[in-house]
Amino acid sequence: MTKTLFLEDSYLRECPAIVVSVKDGKYVTLDQTIFYPKGGGQPYDTGKIMKDAEAFDVVYVGKFSGEISHEVDHAGLEPSDKVCCILNWERRYRLMRSHTAAHVLAALLNKGTGALITGNQLEEDHVRFDFSLERFDKALLEEYLAKANELFGTDVDVKWYELPREEAMKIPGVVKMAEAFPPDLPALRIVEIAGLDRQADGGTHVRNLREVGKVVLVKTENKGKNNRRIYFRLI
Ligand SMILES: [Zn+2]
Repeated sequence: MTKTLFLEDSYLRECPAIVVSVKDGKYVTLDQTIFYPKGGGQPYDTGKIMKDAEAFDVVYVGKFSGEISHEVDHAGLEPSDKVCCILNWERRYRLMRSHTAAHVLAALLNKGTGALITGNQLEEDHVRFDFSLERFDKALLEEYLAKANELFGTDVDVKWYELPREEAMKIPGVVKMAEAFPPDLPALRIVEIAGLDRQADGGTHVRNLREVGKVVLVKTENKGKNNRRIYFRLI
């Protein structure tokens, strides 16, 4: 199994690694990685795998049968190669800021209106956010975005840690994002925004709400009786 360094330290931009396997010349597994595989509403990371002076662009990262596979742009990597992983940090950091922002907005909406968050998809330039709420207008939403922006101007710590599954499931609303967690996982990774929210989550986040900056509403859509969709982005 690949060691998932991004779950412990989301700020690692580089790491050494050893190539474990290569399929069809371009699907590479490593002994450890900083590349986040697509999943849980968060896009995959991009970047480079360096072998000496040769750069292999990482164009896709996915999880297949529990293994993290890095798709590179050309053949040449071999098992046992010593390599260096380098993230496209600008893209990843924006995704970290967006991801934490999405949790804050979800928590505020859920606490304030009882809305259930039914979907959450981060993209490089915006966040799509689905929730169920009967009464809904743009003014209300702008109010919640303003509340979120107020929080992003304050020092609030964000932490992540593992809890035994049984203990984690006692936290009210711990699985707010309707993300599926395999029932056989003995421990859940919790992302905690101090004083606001605790979520079971496998994504990468910033350490302090100040790092988010500010968000703005892009557009809203009604997707049926109680289904609302909004798009917001970082500025
Ligand atoms: Zn999340």
